[in-house]
Amino acid sequence: MLGEWSLNVSLIIHRIESMKNTREIAFQYEVYESVNDLQTADQELVSKAFEALRGSYAPYSRFHVGAAVLLADGEVVCGANQENAAYPSGLCAERVAVFAAKAQKPDVDIDSIAIVIESENAPMLFPSSPCGACRQSLLEYEVNQDRAVRLILATRNSGAYVVPSIKSLLPLFFDQSQLGK
Ligand SMILES: [Zn+2]
Repeated sequence: MLGEWSLNVSLIIHRIESMKNTREIAFQYEVYESVNDLQTADQELVSKAFEALRGSYAPYSRFHVGAAVLLADGEVVCGANQENAAYPSGLCAERVAVFAAKAQKPDVDIDSIAIVIESENAPMLFPSSPCGACRQSLLEYEVNQDRAVRLILATRNSGAYVVPSIKSLLPLFFDQSQLGK
């Protein structure tokens, strides 16, 4: 009987393995050793993000973030992270900037966003990516405008990444289409 049981188990395992269908999601992003190697328009946006970083209020994390949103009409709207003694009440720089931009100009597309970081705790060895909540917030606008939002992620001395779209940072994303919209 044991032999029959083993046979059944191996048949089930074989059936599951033959049903397996895997997919791979990959994306490419550009890597720059120095901010000075970025194209001029991106350098300018990064420098506005660094200016905005001065408005960072981060007494708890001491991790300062500046963001500059370039709109399709050429206007730049900036933001910096704002922390709070009640931690969840704070907001990331990216969302401060993009919410302000869309509140002022709801009908203008977002072209790109530069995000820069500085920490009082440790040297920044590579650029930082938006947190999950910011990716989801940015994705909403990218889906609405049906146009990719470029991200320029930069540090002062440890280079920059250019990511072609928010979707590439949020594989298998959740959006309004799943709500039947
Ligand atoms: Zn965030």
